[in-house]
Amino acid sequence: MARLSDRLPENAPGDFFVDSSCIDCATCRTLAPRVFARSDAVGLSVVGCQPSSEADALRAKMALVSCPTSAIGTASKVPVRDAVGALPDPILSDVLYCGYASESSYGAASYLVVRESGNVLVDSPRAARPLMDGLEALGGVRTMFLSHVDDVADHSLFARRFACERVIHADDARGPLLEVERKLHGNDPIVLAPDLLAIPVPGHTRGSAVLLYREQVLFTGDHLWGSADGKRLEAGRSVCWHSWSEQTRSMAKLLDFAFEWVLPGHGARFHAPKERMRSELERLVARMRG
Ligand code: SF4
Repeated sequence: MARLSDRLPENAPGDFFVDSSCIDCATCRTLAPRVFARSDAVGLSVVGCQPSSEADALRAKMALVSCPTSAIGTASKVPVRDAVGALPDPILSDVLYCGYASESSYGAASYLVVRESGNVLVDSPRAARPLMDGLEALGGVRTMFLSHVDDVADHSLFARRFACERVIHADDARGPLLEVERKLHGNDPIVLAPDLLAIPVPGHTRGSAVLLYREQVLFTGDHLWGSADGKRLEAGRSVCWHSWSEQTRSMAKLLDFAFEWVLPGHGARFHAPKERMRSELERLVARMRG
């Protein structure tokens, strides 16, 4: 629970606040960008602007329940039941952002894909009871796609609750991940279903993989994300744990595929028509090679 006594002085005056336990994961800034902002002075999130509408207050409360370190609070202890009911948060009619980030994955984003042939949970949120119940109400989870070893959080609790098949690349399956039901091998794309293609993208980690859904959405883990200003695609050499040259080759491989959305584990989402997405990807590959 956030502590008023640890409230960051950079917060805008008012009810909502962020305390010093923030880890700068950006979950709040994704969910409520009109309320939360990054303070360069402290390198953490703060309340940049107190909510001035019911809609903004709801988004701020969704961030409060989703914050992985419980760093967000309200002086008045506002009830959050409506925010709990508003998660998962739709991005598209069949793709939802789960919220409820886990500190063990540094607040990585996770997503639910709702499909007639079985829902897919991409990476693992925190196994909070309200989220588990919400996923159940949306049809449960048949498949859990784990993009890489860092964003797996509470995967075993989701597997137990939903009896789902977990999928991860064999090169990232170590320790507790050895129990994962399906391990992918090699670097060629693997068809998981007619609308689901797993694409190994070694680089950030040896076993990183992205998931292409309906040639529309690319779930990218920590391989690829959008810039904070929404203008371009980015990848991070400073957070490349395996091989930057391999990650560059893996990025170029994505030019073979068409998609409109990049939904990452960390970093901003990116949405563009397919032609622009391709040109942004080409620019990124050129920068990585540069
Ligand atoms: S969600 Fe919590 S930990 Fe993450 S940036 Fe916001 S306040 Fe910080």
